[in-house]
Amino acid sequence: MRAAPLIVGAGPAGIRAAMTLVAAGLRPVVVDEAPACGGQIYRQPLIPDGRTPAGRYGSEAAKAMRLHTEFAELRDRIDYRPGTLVWNLALGVAHLTRDGKSDSIAHDGLILATGAMDRVLPVPGWTLPGVFSLGGAQIALKAQGAAIGRRVVFLGSGPLLYLVAWQYLKAGVNVVAVLDTAPFTAKLRLAAGLLLDPRTLLLGLRYAAELRLAGVPIRFGVEKPEINGDGRVDSIGWAEAGRVGHLACDAVAFGLGLKPEAQLAELAGCAFVFSERDRVYVPLRDRAGRSSVSGVYVAGDGAGIMGADAAEAAGERAALALIEDRGLAFDAGRARQLESALKRLSRFRDVMAAAFPFPHDWRIADDTTLCRCEEITAGEARAAIAQFGIREINRLKAVSRIGMGRCQGRLCSGAAAELLAQETGQGIDAAGRLRGQAPVKPVPLSLMDRISEVAE
Ligand SMILES: Cc1cc2nc3c(=O)[nH]c(=O)nc-3n(C[C@H](O)[C@H](O)[C@H](O)COP(=O)(O)OP(=O)(O)OC[C@H]3O[C@@H](n4cnc5c(N)ncnc54)[C@H](O)[C@@H]3O)c2cc1C
Repeated sequence: MRAAPLIVGAGPAGIRAAMTLVAAGLRPVVVDEAPACGGQIYRQPLIPDGRTPAGRYGSEAAKAMRLHTEFAELRDRIDYRPGTLVWNLALGVAHLTRDGKSDSIAHDGLILATGAMDRVLPVPGWTLPGVFSLGGAQIALKAQGAAIGRRVVFLGSGPLLYLVAWQYLKAGVNVVAVLDTAPFTAKLRLAAGLLLDPRTLLLGLRYAAELRLAGVPIRFGVEKPEINGDGRVDSIGWAEAGRVGHLACDAVAFGLGLKPEAQLAELAGCAFVFSERDRVYVPLRDRAGRSSVSGVYVAGDGAGIMGADAAEAAGERAALALIEDRGLAFDAGRARQLESALKRLSRFRDVMAAAFPFPHDWRIADDTTLCRCEEITAGEARAAIAQFGIREINRLKAVSRIGMGRCQGRLCSGAAAELLAQETGQGIDAAGRLRGQAPVKPVPLSLMDRISEVAE
């Protein structure tokens, strides 16, 4: 008997993929490290906090409830393993851990729907208590009903900047300011998105308008941010059009968009390709989500940032590809429909990328920590690059230990690649990408023997 297909991730992409496989008569295994389904956008609270879905998910409440309900209805037709991390993939077997115990599972067909994480570039003071990534600030609010501070500044670029600031405002937190690193003129490019995804665009404009109406200052073209504090954040400074700004606050949420969580695709042996839009390498895939490895499919933000609606469509499309590749009946018309929706949403993503551009001139000061796990400063990285003539990120890791710590480079590798590209005068694509290593995320020490066995 053939093994079951495995889906990693129970966010919008993974849920839709599971529904599609079940409809075709398959019984997939669905693994997610989160305790409940929903992924990032439709994350469920750890404990009841008295808020209604509308209070928690705002304009997306109906979509969240629909996906949660539809997934719950699948429960006896799938093998769902919440709270379970896939920490390695090798030769058709996934290595898992849950509650400190290890397990492995053979699969026939693998859909990776592992989502994204914040992209962060170091700023002075970013390691102070009270500084969170934008996504982290949102998780605190969404999953735990907690705010990261009483007077919060939101800094960076990307749609999440305004969304999370607005969510904090609605939760009754004092939003001190929104500091957008993009110039105001970049926002004019949003007009091109009106025909492609008017709902999302108008929602974003609403968030910005409500922040303004509530008296929240929104600054554009913010440069050289510096977070200050003695033991904890107490203020933030920045430059802007030749002037300097300064505000008191007790927390800062910052991020510069998202980056795909693609380490498992790497361990599965998938080929990668550089994405100009995401400024990182992403798994190579066809329009259906087939990777370069037979039987391995990638869907959702883990394959390139496209947003939640696209993640649903991509999850369904990848599952249809798996069904077709197994020789089962599949709906070709639906597949075409999904591909054309994904094409439109990709054009919308181009618009968003233009409206929230990456700050190419971001310069990391020598005394700023670059890799916080290994406590390596940008100056130390620059010295290593100069001393050893380094041009590629894996060499920088070998020489300096950047990316060798607990986060396995998930947090620092983007910044290290940017720094390497700046120092060597080459494009960020030429700096390369860190080779994936198991375990892809921190695991309990009780698994050390198992990891050594797998490594042998
Ligand atoms: C912190 C954060 C907050 C966000 N909030 C919003 C928002 O409010 N609104 C919005 O429009 N977009 C938001 N986004 C963007 C969001 O990622 C997408 O819109 C959407 O959730 C993508 O769906 P997905 O199914 O591709 O991935 P996700 O929703 O991210 O789901 C991926 C799932 O895979 C699981 N997973 C990953 N790796 C492993 C592993 N190794 N083992 C087991 N499980 C694993 C994760 O636990 C997660 O549940 C957010 C992104 C981040 C990073």
